[in-house]
Amino acid sequence: MRVSKSFIPTLKEIPQEAEIPSHQLMLRAGLMRKVASGIYEYLPLAHRSLIKIMNIIRQEMEMVGAQEVLLPILTPAELWLKTGRWQKYGKELMRVQDRHSRDFALGPTHEEVITDLVQSELKSYKQLPLNLFQIATKFRDEVRPRFGVMRSREFIMKDGYSFDVDEIEAEKTYWKMVEAYKRIFKRCGLFCSPVEADSGLIGGNFSHEFMVMAETGEAAVAFCKSCDYSANLETAKSIPTVSLINEIRPACKVPTPNYKSVSEVSNFLKVSANQIIKTLIYVTEGDPIAVIIRGDHEVNETKLQNYLKVFELKLASHEEVEKITHMPMGFVGPVGLKDIRIIGDLVLKEGHGYIAGGAEPDVHWTYLEIGRDFPTPEWADIRNVVTGEACVGCSQPLNVGRGIEVGQTFKLGKRYSTPMHCVFLSKSGVEEEVTMGCYGIGVSRTLAAAIEQHYDEFGICWPIAIAPYQIHLLLLSPNDAEAVRLAEMIYDQCVEKKIEVLYDDRLEASVGFKFKDADLIGLPISVRIGSKSVKEGIVEIKIRRNPQVMKVPIAQFFENLIDLLQEEWKRCEP
Ligand SMILES: [Zn+2]
Repeated sequence: MRVSKSFIPTLKEIPQEAEIPSHQLMLRAGLMRKVASGIYEYLPLAHRSLIKIMNIIRQEMEMVGAQEVLLPILTPAELWLKTGRWQKYGKELMRVQDRHSRDFALGPTHEEVITDLVQSELKSYKQLPLNLFQIATKFRDEVRPRFGVMRSREFIMKDGYSFDVDEIEAEKTYWKMVEAYKRIFKRCGLFCSPVEADSGLIGGNFSHEFMVMAETGEAAVAFCKSCDYSANLETAKSIPTVSLINEIRPACKVPTPNYKSVSEVSNFLKVSANQIIKTLIYVTEGDPIAVIIRGDHEVNETKLQNYLKVFELKLASHEEVEKITHMPMGFVGPVGLKDIRIIGDLVLKEGHGYIAGGAEPDVHWTYLEIGRDFPTPEWADIRNVVTGEACVGCSQPLNVGRGIEVGQTFKLGKRYSTPMHCVFLSKSGVEEEVTMGCYGIGVSRTLAAAIEQHYDEFGICWPIAIAPYQIHLLLLSPNDAEAVRLAEMIYDQCVEKKIEVLYDDRLEASVGFKFKDADLIGLPISVRIGSKSVKEGIVEIKIRRNPQVMKVPIAQFFENLIDLLQEEWKRCEP
């Protein structure tokens, strides 16, 4: 492709609306433009990358026996009513009416549609297993679309659904899909790991999220570099450090004038935060509850919510705390706490000699023993894992980082086959419900995540497998006939050898401008040709992710280029 004839509108300035690198770079490098909030147009460069991601997905899905279909975007309300999701989905489900006032939804996911399809065709166990997928546009009416295509209202997704005779077969399919997903993301040049996750609105009983580790990720993930363990912070476990070696003494009250927070009390009493018990009051749709946790730890509200099995959970206000506990805010503690269910974080169990609020103004208890000075609470794991704690898999220190979810796999069981009566006749002639799994990949999000993982201060640094083109050929002296002749020759030969090349043949653009654009667009290898190279009989080659520029004799150019391309491809091997 000649840049002079291309549609690649790059921008010099960082667009104000864009908060994260991938969003900024996708706008600046001319990959996309915004139509409306959360709705984007993909321009030629992005489209080429998207097609490459889709083709990698297709190849890997076909390897595990999945077949591609294309389902409608407009889906009738009847199907959503059958599973109860017409109500449950809330405002995120884009609803529309046709001219006869019939309700439809623009599909955010297609469990209902595909289960209905399979249900109408499935008769015998002989038709199973069945594994179908599609790559299509999806809609989700986000309250606050942001971060470009990372959280947009319209997005491209691969969604797949598996149908098996029983739980054992479904489990085999599930793990095959997890392996295929690992290969897909590796082939896209991403460092991505599957983490155990909560299955949320899709339902079902088991789930993995595929996380691309990046600073701008929305989800917190605990992961181990020594073994395979990784988990969403909502499910992560660790072996906590218990360093409390306090002697057991009778509890006594000490004055703590106006010292309320953990840090204030620990500074004033000269003790570390892990000796302090924090007491938090939460309100739910049922009774309020109290939580006690070590001063250096944080409550993970999803863990707490899952343990309590409540829908609503929020920290009580100052007034509510004082009304519920009859203790002044800042001095609430487990001693004397009455008529309230108390949940204690498991880690507290091991320690002795705790400090906690004294239930009256300006006083704290010291040398508290759980079970002696106040009743033993219900123990549960309700805290966030923190960096440095020992891994449950191998005891090495864990890391807590941020990840971008690019895919998710679910074992659905009979969550959809039961309400939609998706059944088959088993070997023994008995009618049985099919066991399902579902598997999503955010295709447009994968593109953005790849940029989040591969960029520098100058622009994108594409992994070769999903780069819009492999080579950026820069003609630096468009007025030098010899340089033009050499660049044209290299361009023609690249095209002939099926090396994807973007050729900056512009007459009016300065050398500096061409360099800036090349860094911004970030193709893996750039080739520079100017008057100087023609005179010296060399071509300059630069790998985008390395700072050095190589000088290669013209005669050896293609040999070298092919070696370098192979090096880049090796980085995307599963
Ligand atoms: Zn480990």
